[in-house]
Amino acid sequence: MLRIGHGFDVHAFAEGRDLVLGGVRIPAPRGLLGHSDADVVTHALMDAVLGAMRAEDIGQLFPDTDPAYEGADSCELLRQVAGLARDRGYRILDCDCTIAAQAPRLATHRLAMRRALAGALGIDVESVGVAATTTEHLGFVGREEGIAAWAVALLEQDEGGAHAHLQ
Ligand code: MG
Repeated sequence: MLRIGHGFDVHAFAEGRDLVLGGVRIPAPRGLLGHSDADVVTHALMDAVLGAMRAEDIGQLFPDTDPAYEGADSCELLRQVAGLARDRGYRILDCDCTIAAQAPRLATHRLAMRRALAGALGIDVESVGVAATTTEHLGFVGREEGIAAWAVALLEQDEGGAHAHLQ
């Protein structure tokens, strides 16, 4: 049984924060505001994987009111989500992420992000895509107020799990 999941996230820019996207620290004058490291790409991808599992979302799994997740490395949380997927009888087959950021330019960091995300998921780098776009100066992304990310994930559910799902 194949299942597809979709994730979306937004974080606002903030002074005095590191910019972490797809598990990679990107040189930039400011980062994103969030309880964790605010890695908007990894958050979207976690919700895509969890969505395909029809499981809790990341807000339920890793509440931002829990001090345990303050400054959390989102790639470590993604690693936990991948472990949960395996425990529940899913195989993560393929993922793709799109980042909307007016600045900074991200093209040179795409491969590093793919490697970091694939490493956290425990899958081949060829199974993880990352693309980046601007929004032609339109909207909150275009005004450089924040960064948005979307992700899709394709999972295969083992037969036993698929049957349990229907009961
Ligand atoms: Mg988030």
